[in-house]
Amino acid sequence: MKKINIAIIVIMGVILLSCCNFNTKNNELIFEKGEKITNSNFTGNAWLMDLISADSLNQNAVGSVTFEPGARTNWHSHPAGQIILAIGGIGYYQEKGKPIETIHKGEVVKCPHNIPHWHGASPDSEFIQVAITGRENGTTVWFDPVTDEEYNSYDNK
Ligand code: MN
Repeated sequence: MKKINIAIIVIMGVILLSCCNFNTKNNELIFEKGEKITNSNFTGNAWLMDLISADSLNQNAVGSVTFEPGARTNWHSHPAGQIILAIGGIGYYQEKGKPIETIHKGEVVKCPHNIPHWHGASPDSEFIQVAITGRENGTTVWFDPVTDEEYNSYDNK
């Protein structure tokens, strides 16, 4: 009986340790978190790590943004579009007039040019994205904040 109990404890321990290792690996940062965003184009807490600046020949700006759960951008559009690479957590993405979509780590989104949209974290998970933003036709155009009603309109079906 005692041997069985010890065996169970050992097995539980191994399972627990493997879970911890798994979580640690999942939470490893790929890029530094950067600076907390203090402008009014975001709701909630978000951080930006500038990775690449646009120049005259390669007009893509690249940055990593970390959103706390519930944090999101305002509505905005990109004159030359944007590519979002999800590198951590679970996020939300919505184009004007369409339902909210979830974005998981490892997924990508291409935002068409001049289409109002927003992106950010889901309510229960942070979200980390690398955004590649074309600057050919100008910089991001910002609109109103995403209201709680809009944010909470996610339909799980
Ligand atoms: Mn965008």
